[in-house]
Amino acid sequence: MKPVLEVEGIHKYYQDKKLFGKEQSVVKAVNGVSFSLNKGEAFGLVGESGCGKSTTGKVIAQLIKQTSGVVRFQGQDLAELSAKQLKAWRKQVQIVFQDPYSSLNPKKTLEWILEEPLIIHKLGDKTWRRKRVIQVLADVGLDASFLKRYPHELSGGQRQRIAIAAALVLKPELIVIDEGVSALDVSVQAQILNLLKKLQHKYDLTYIFISHDLNVVQYFCDRIAVMYLGEIVETGTTEDIGDQPKHPYSQALFSAKPTMEGTTDRIILKGDMPDPAHAPAGCPFHTRCPLAMEQCGHVKPERVQMAGMHHVSCHLYEEGDMSHENRRCI
Ligand code: SF4
Repeated sequence: MKPVLEVEGIHKYYQDKKLFGKEQSVVKAVNGVSFSLNKGEAFGLVGESGCGKSTTGKVIAQLIKQTSGVVRFQGQDLAELSAKQLKAWRKQVQIVFQDPYSSLNPKKTLEWILEEPLIIHKLGDKTWRRKRVIQVLADVGLDASFLKRYPHELSGGQRQRIAIAAALVLKPELIVIDEGVSALDVSVQAQILNLLKKLQHKYDLTYIFISHDLNVVQYFCDRIAVMYLGEIVETGTTEDIGDQPKHPYSQALFSAKPTMEGTTDRIILKGDMPDPAHAPAGCPFHTRCPLAMEQCGHVKPERVQMAGMHHVSCHLYEEGDMSHENRRCI
């Protein structure tokens, strides 16, 4: 099966202007990220704040342009599209943000908010658009009585349902959900996650799910990529990463995950994530890694395949290496 999305070596760099605009450094927000997605998959991007996961999502949705690298959607390199073709393509990839209140125009009714994307893309006449808006409201568990309401009249969960409806109304192939349930109560979170799953099955949607909440990601996603300092350091199925993380950073991240029993085996990392404008040489994690070796400070680890879809970038492992226990952080 051909992947719906292929991301090949994308970099997103920013010039960091210092005081008086003199000294400049380059912030490497995303630094060589590659992965592909099959239709109907839910792919999680996890990592600490500032690891580049949201920037990656925005590059995929082409809200920002990558500095280099290729984003291919259904085989088409997006960089080769004209402005007109890119506008038409935007129907296919939508993004849902954490705070629906700021992404929904407070002065407009929900009918206006949901109809606007259809008007922008010149789809249907007024009667068709109204029918489509009512249909999409039903898809997210709301009815036509919401048409004349304003965003401030809704609960947090209802607002997020409208944000999902606004993403859904154009019948996209791929939806990027950037911390889409993080601001919600746990019970509402569960309702929204179940709704997203229902929609995924109904419309064969593909999701990129960006979150710092590992429990949510494990519940929702088929595969997970762990990001650190703009790079993917480990990727695999949810079972690979959740049950047997290989990379020392993934081990630390998942050891801090709240569980019913508490987090007694938590691995505490020293220091903070380095400034992306001054990323360390060698392995990006070596300044905090409890298992760092001499070579880690100057040799960048290659991405190696452990088994199946499980890949890790760490000098502790070799291609096809299935051993695990002796490389565990303590
Ligand atoms: Fe740690 Fe070295 Fe592996 Fe990086 S390559 S994660 S520093 S052991």
